[in-house]
Amino acid sequence: MTDFVYLMAASHSGSTLLTLLLASHPDVATVGETCAVQWTGNGDTGLCSCGLRLEVCSFWQSLGERLSRRGIAWDPRHFRTDFQVSRGRLTHRVLRAEYQRPLLEGLRDACLMVSPVWRRERADLFRNNQALIEETMRIQSGKVFLDSSKEPHRLKFFLQMPGLRIKVIHMIRDGRGVMNSYLTRSRWTPERSADEWRRSIVSEEHILHRLQPEQYIQIRYEDLCREMTNHVGRVLTFMGLNPDLWDPNFNEHERHILGNRMRMRKDIEVRLNEQWRESLTPDHLTTFEGIAGHLNRKYGYE
Ligand SMILES: [Zn+2]
Repeated sequence: MTDFVYLMAASHSGSTLLTLLLASHPDVATVGETCAVQWTGNGDTGLCSCGLRLEVCSFWQSLGERLSRRGIAWDPRHFRTDFQVSRGRLTHRVLRAEYQRPLLEGLRDACLMVSPVWRRERADLFRNNQALIEETMRIQSGKVFLDSSKEPHRLKFFLQMPGLRIKVIHMIRDGRGVMNSYLTRSRWTPERSADEWRRSIVSEEHILHRLQPEQYIQIRYEDLCREMTNHVGRVLTFMGLNPDLWDPNFNEHERHILGNRMRMRKDIEVRLNEQWRESLTPDHLTTFEGIAGHLNRKYGYE
């Protein structure tokens, strides 16, 4: 069995920061967001965090050689790990839908079962993900594999994969902070920004209901920033690892991470960003309250 930890979070909630912190533990194997191999290979999201293209990065080259030995064609532009199909708009939409309550998930499974393209491609996607996990663990000598892809519906497919012992880190940030990031970085409307966070949290809660309570841990972005060592230690212990082996000099650590642009930086300071307190107007806060205030309070944000 492979120990597999999935970092689940809404966007802009600090998951890249936590990934970089955990990656400096010697027993953690990770490439960050496993769903991002093909996009990064295509140049859509840039480079490996070491600063090189995947074709020339020594880690990805070594991974490619190992995959080839397993009979899996390696080309970073075409190596698919995201649970999407190559054609079929309806199947694509069914696959992309956020994780829902059990009845709707049953409906999704029924639709996928009769989709010829999904039935054809599912085995390859599962095989690619499994090979990526296993070979990364061998190259990095990791005891636990960390996938920080964030999305709940991706976790759904890992839960169907044989051979994985799954744990989940559920990372939460004050929804007003997330709303502020959408407003400033994506230039979304206040309504859309608040609703995007709400929908992520609802979807996360649906999939957490499928897990045993000991299978997941919750960590708040704000707590991580305020008491980094304590909370990194708590998460590592949950992952079954010795927190004393963690290297706090995470910026110095060699890593090959995909995902958010922050992964490229070597000067990251763990500093709480609560810009929303100055940036959000009373109107923004009223909009947020109407859409997601009740959920925010549930996670202790007043
Ligand atoms: Zn690299």
